[in-house]
Amino acid sequence: MIEVSQLGWDPGTVGELDHQRLKAPSVKLRSYSVGTKGDVVYCVDLRISKPNEEYVPITEMHSLEHFLLEGFQRYLPVNFISIGLMGCQTGFYLVLFNEGRAEKICQVYENILREVINAHLVPYASIAECGNYRNHNLELTQQLASKILQARASWRQVV
Ligand SMILES: [Zn+2]
Repeated sequence: MIEVSQLGWDPGTVGELDHQRLKAPSVKLRSYSVGTKGDVVYCVDLRISKPNEEYVPITEMHSLEHFLLEGFQRYLPVNFISIGLMGCQTGFYLVLFNEGRAEKICQVYENILREVINAHLVPYASIAECGNYRNHNLELTQQLASKILQARASWRQVV
């Protein structure tokens, strides 16, 4: 068992919650799995907009996905497993191996978003690296990143 409060998470918000209660932007531990040798896989929700009220357009979702993929790989090369879009277009699923500290994850996320604002191109956006390379927009993704950063102080309040 893992003491999620020692990792900085509110134990009452781990797992699936009524989506009507969810605040955004927020960072929330969705689940974790402990292996027989003690390794842990953590699934974290990077919620960007409030469910059933606001949706991130697919172009910004796509470009931000590329930045998050590049950034989490670079900052947490040993721990990063994957990042994926929520089909509802309100956030991302982040999967990490043996890194579940809330503040560490938020700090890396913050660093990546700050880099988005100063970026000159979307990573992996060439025809050789992306399955829909025309569907990117740096400027709109930068606006989205600054909106998420404006709420940095309240990311950990998920309900
Ligand atoms: Zn792509």
